[in-house]
Amino acid sequence: MTTETTETSAPASETRRFEAEVSQVLHLVTHSLYSHKEIFLRELVSNASDACDKLRFEAIGKPELLAGEGELRIEISHDRDARTVTIRDTGIGMDRGEVIANIGSIASSGTRRFLEALGENQKADARLIGQFGVGFYSAFVVADRVTVLTRRAGTPAEAGVKWESDGRGEYTLEPAMLEHTGTTIVLHLKEGEDEFLDGWKLRALVRKYSDHIAFPIRMPKETGKDEKKDAPEWETVNDASALWTRPKNEISDEDYRGFYKSLGHDFNDPAAWTHNRVEGSQSFTTLLYLPSQPPFDLLMGGRDERKGLKLYIRRVFVMDAAEELLPNYLRFVRGVVDADDLPLNVSREILQQNRQLERIRGACVKRVLDLIDRLSREEPEKFAAFLKAFGNTLKEGIVEDPSNRERIARLLRFASTRGEGAAQTVSLDDYIGRMQPGQDAIWYVTAESHAAAAGSPQLEAFRGKGIEVLLMSDRIDEWMVGHLHEYAGKPLRHVAKGELPLDEAEKKQQEEAAQAAAPLLERLKKLLEGKVQEVRVSARLTDSPACLALAEYEMAPHLARLLREAGQAVPESLPTLEVNPRHALLQRIAATGDDTQAADLATLLLEQAQLTAGAPLADPAAFVQRINRLLAG
Ligand code: ADP
Ligand code: MG
Repeated sequence: MTTETTETSAPASETRRFEAEVSQVLHLVTHSLYSHKEIFLRELVSNASDACDKLRFEAIGKPELLAGEGELRIEISHDRDARTVTIRDTGIGMDRGEVIANIGSIASSGTRRFLEALGENQKADARLIGQFGVGFYSAFVVADRVTVLTRRAGTPAEAGVKWESDGRGEYTLEPAMLEHTGTTIVLHLKEGEDEFLDGWKLRALVRKYSDHIAFPIRMPKETGKDEKKDAPEWETVNDASALWTRPKNEISDEDYRGFYKSLGHDFNDPAAWTHNRVEGSQSFTTLLYLPSQPPFDLLMGGRDERKGLKLYIRRVFVMDAAEELLPNYLRFVRGVVDADDLPLNVSREILQQNRQLERIRGACVKRVLDLIDRLSREEPEKFAAFLKAFGNTLKEGIVEDPSNRERIARLLRFASTRGEGAAQTVSLDDYIGRMQPGQDAIWYVTAESHAAAAGSPQLEAFRGKGIEVLLMSDRIDEWMVGHLHEYAGKPLRHVAKGELPLDEAEKKQQEEAAQAAAPLLERLKKLLEGKVQEVRVSARLTDSPACLALAEYEMAPHLARLLREAGQAVPESLPTLEVNPRHALLQRIAATGDDTQAADLATLLLEQAQLTAGAPLADPAAFVQRINRLLAG
């Protein structure tokens, strides 16, 4: 291969500025990736491998594209004298426009989102860059000048492009005569980065990060002597086989972990994986991983671009197909699917209606849910960490995937009145196993925080009866539980909704209490006219004076508030107030002859019920004045 370049007439060489965001990334990368600087090699090799994948795919229709360069491969070499490390691939290459679009601006929308998310506290968040991987720009962590020589497959030698930059805001572009198609990246190492001018060190890094790249990675044979580099003898240093095609018993855990990391986007070990081969009228292989930490896109709610699950057809990479292969609520899954029987020239549109793919998709969902289930039984600690990272994503499945609702619900964990704090959680099966004799429902309360849920006055009667209540305080819970009407044949019920199940004696007591309080209820209705729909005696309260009750299909007040704040239309309805006539405050309202004071007390009763339910106060200033009148009085 030649590194010589010659000017051709047009287009002329030019200096361009990076997009503003690129400069920002470059600054961050060079200043924060320092502890992980060796990942530049992983990132560049991963790009080289992607480029080989792309060429192999394009060559299906145009075999002549593969003719020139021979085998698809990656070559890594170094030059002590010139202080350079060079990564070359025989992949797809780039034309001038592609170079500008892909390297001069931020090509990956993931990187863009990352930047948007960085916000003000750049230092703290910059740690994430390491986990996230910023691809090509990581070259500037170790190099103060990077040269890219690239020629797109299928274009003539004079269509080559030379790109060069010191990573400080500008880059130059010029036409170059390149003998070979593909891409060569030359890193001119910074002062002090000499450790990478060592063949053994580079080899060790390739093995650590890129052993499972499915194309051969070649390096010059180490002879011990500093040989002339123009005629090196190349040897393959990686495994270069598609890991998932090997028999399971020949693959070690270390191999599986290494492969996971080579898929990109995560530095950490996976939490678990499942590797399966289905043989039959339709054969395919799946290797699916659960990450142990949320990747960046997921934090960002990145739904538009989902990478991480690669579709291969008979070992040829076809496309990132997470959306086609898995429902959205399993978007954290990484891995590969290799199908034997799909046509190689399949397009995304065709894929979306393909019946074979539907089967594969069904199998993937089943495998993943089985895998999570296994993790929950065999590795409780890892499972807890997994749920912390992805539990809320999984909950979306209750709504999104009705056919697996019960299976997903079994995997979820909730805080409960039996647990100590938010961290101690129970499964629905645990809950059912502890139900009181005669209890026929799974009770829960939703609120905007764990403390608010645990402090709900509606729980008092349940505590009195020893009935456990699930405490739900994730934003998604209200929505999720609205779709989970029952589990294992038991209905799920909100503690504030509808009638409580009372035995005969309790019913009688309740009626008597209501009768005795009839004049008080009348008075409260008058005092709160226009503010409440109804006032009634509560069976839910033992210690608190009042709470709100909800109709069967009414939205919890805290959620209604959130939705309104988000600009959504939520039907307005007056609340139903439940009171506890035994409470001193109620007795005081019944006893006072002062109508102004009675009005203050009644309004406060309603307001405190609203506050504990997470509903907004209609007039906070008036609320404060009322309190002050009573405190001063
Ligand atoms: P990502 O790989 O996540 O897309 P990178 O920053 O690593 O982001 O690379 C940016 C883009 O530059 C790639 O998407 C690709 O289009 C292009 N690119 C980088 N390296 C190569 C290469 N060796 N051959 C061809 N294109 C490349
Ligand atoms: Mg990349």
